[in-house]
Amino acid sequence: MRTKRLSMADIPEAAALLRKGELVAFPTETVYGLGADACNADAVRAVFAAKGRPADNPLIVHIAETAQIGSVAREVPPIALRLAEAFWPGPLTMVLPKRDCIPEVTSGGLDTVGIRLPAHPAARTLIREAGCPVAAPSANRSGRPSPTTARHVLDDMDGRIAAVLDGGQCEVGVESTVICFDDPETIHVLRPGLICAEELLPYAGAVYVDPAVFEQAAPDAKVASPGMKYKHYAPRARILPVEADSFDGYAAYVRAHADAHTWCLLFDTDPEVPGIPCMRYGDDGARQAHDLFCRFRELDAAGAVTVYVRCPSSQGRSLGVYNRLMRAAGFEVIHL
Ligand code: AMP
Ligand code: MG
Repeated sequence: MRTKRLSMADIPEAAALLRKGELVAFPTETVYGLGADACNADAVRAVFAAKGRPADNPLIVHIAETAQIGSVAREVPPIALRLAEAFWPGPLTMVLPKRDCIPEVTSGGLDTVGIRLPAHPAARTLIREAGCPVAAPSANRSGRPSPTTARHVLDDMDGRIAAVLDGGQCEVGVESTVICFDDPETIHVLRPGLICAEELLPYAGAVYVDPAVFEQAAPDAKVASPGMKYKHYAPRARILPVEADSFDGYAAYVRAHADAHTWCLLFDTDPEVPGIPCMRYGDDGARQAHDLFCRFRELDAAGAVTVYVRCPSSQGRSLGVYNRLMRAAGFEVIHL
């Protein structure tokens, strides 16, 4: 079965496929999601199979209106409503106690569920027309970079899913910020995204960023979010982030270590590294988030074997990009 490529005019067809228990990839403002009816255990099992995703890694459930939150979560604390008011529709996922209508296969066996109201109009229309909450992890094969175009989805998923709804390139480019609540006033960041801790703080007593955002969780460690255990977002090429005070220091290090299959991933304002091919991925957190996964796929297509990456800041809105890069690199950084 080839995967159908649908356009925005075909949203009713995509919604009908979801209602029948089929899998449909669709654009969100973050990355492309691989959608299934979140309440249909067989459809959700098919998502795990199509991605090759470990069964204990829960799926985020997407809704079309804030008012739907109570049909998915059995308790919604006031802080969650304040955050929904401030950041939805948008790239923020909140983990809350789940209702029984969400099967355990969707929540990876947990009693909680991650909920998000996406901002992309096609995503919202699709969810509304499907008439059910839509479970959607990123629409890549497990471990690969998340897809930010319909082409990327087909590269990983052609023949494995019924359809992909083509809505062009995703605006944000990295996955949503995932949070849970340690107590009624404390936000715990499980996965950083474009919405950063500093932006969340005005709505909470405190914001705590999980240490697994910065360093590899041990394989047997008890982690707050199952996804933290798994290597993620990696191209085939070996990713080597380089933290250097200056471009000259970076360039000298790379020239001393390069071979014929080495590439550089640089900031837009960097000059060239003589003799070594390069790609660029922006200068600030938002631009870098937009481009990172796209560049990963392009570097693979170019035949890169090792890629020395100019390391982004780990502050504010850049933390999401920094975290994806660290995970692609197995949290190993070259400090000069
Ligand atoms: P993805 O579907 O690829 O965007 O990944 C979803 C991320 O959200 C993974 O890192 C999950 O571990 C995390 N997540 C989803 N639901 C929960 C939950 N109920 N509790 C903790 N983390 C969750
Ligand atoms: Mg993913």
